[in-house]
Amino acid sequence: MARVEFRQVRKEFKDDHKGTFTAVAGSDFVIEDKEFVVFVGPSGCGKTTSLRMIAGLEKQTSGDIVIGNRIVNDLHPKDRDIAMVFQDYALYPHMTIRENLSFGLKNLKKPKAYIDEQVQNAASILGLEAMLERKPRELSGGQRQRVAVGRAIVRDPQVFLFDEPLSNLDAKLRVQMRVELGELHKRLGATIVYVTHDQVEAMTLGERIVVMNHGDIQQVASPKELYASPRNMFVAGFIGSPAMNFIDAHIEGTQVKVEGTSFTLPADVLERLNSYQGKRVILGLRPEHIFGDDVAPNVPQDHMLQARVQVVEHLGSENLLYFRLGSRTVTAKVHPETHAYVGMDKTFVLDMRKAHFFDPE
Ligand code: ADP
Ligand code: MG
Repeated sequence: MARVEFRQVRKEFKDDHKGTFTAVAGSDFVIEDKEFVVFVGPSGCGKTTSLRMIAGLEKQTSGDIVIGNRIVNDLHPKDRDIAMVFQDYALYPHMTIRENLSFGLKNLKKPKAYIDEQVQNAASILGLEAMLERKPRELSGGQRQRVAVGRAIVRDPQVFLFDEPLSNLDAKLRVQMRVELGELHKRLGATIVYVTHDQVEAMTLGERIVVMNHGDIQQVASPKELYASPRNMFVAGFIGSPAMNFIDAHIEGTQVKVEGTSFTLPADVLERLNSYQGKRVILGLRPEHIFGDDVAPNVPQDHMLQARVQVVEHLGSENLLYFRLGSRTVTAKVHPETHAYVGMDKTFVLDMRKAHFFDPE
């Protein structure tokens, strides 16, 4: 297994019509040996390009890529000792599962005994032993996906690369495979670089997460850290569901003013706010940190706000209440027993201890 490092890696695509397009704008990161790192960001932000550069399928415009302890810039993909699992994991339909799993190793002219052992090992790890003589069409979607992963495992690579491997599966299967991939990582003790646009997948799978937008790395951190201390509004809005609320506010002394209501801020929050004194600021508050005043467990009741409920969504385990604050719609994720109906003037409790502050756009 091995670590992977990007040093100022940049990728530009030349286009006859639009000129030069920067897909990755000078990335720096280190993925440690045996680490599970997830790249997450909206479609087109440069995730696949980053992965393909690690694999050597795409050559960077500038910068160095290190795998293990060597710079691999000029190393051919097949010499990088890497296995990639794609979103469209086309299996060979006319081959059995065993043949699908063996194919890559046969091409590499590995001895038969070694191939058999590797296939047996992968099948056992993935629970595919009973299916080795079947054809892909006789397998379920989840089982076929496991075969695709198996084709990577038999290669026993230094690094596994996964590019949105679950996005063609239905929601329930996706959750199940997510759990399996997490367990697989523990069992293989492998370095895994995993790409997804799904922040829930990133948060559940990643030991560390690289958040990207428009070719730029926004933040590299653990899931916990990303949630608690997002570095900017993009990360704050991208991680967490429903998304963090952004509310126009003003800081004056020890007070934050929101649409005519003033809140006294906790001392530790104020400490972070010195640079905003007397200025406009964006207050970021997650939906789960806004409560109805009737069901607000363990929250200081001094940060209250009156607003008219515009929409109520019942999700079973919680309710989503939407209300307007100035020009913005605010979402509160509240306990299902919170009393609310459309048109109700409701008192909300804001947990200011959990407040984030950002520069106005
Ligand atoms: P993601 O995987 O995050 O959705 P990609 O890495 O596939 O994004 O693409 C990043 C950007 O680079 C996109 O705007 C895409 O259109 C562009 N891009 C990717 N591959 C090429 C290519 N071969 N030629 C030109 N532009 C490309
Ligand atoms: Mg992609």
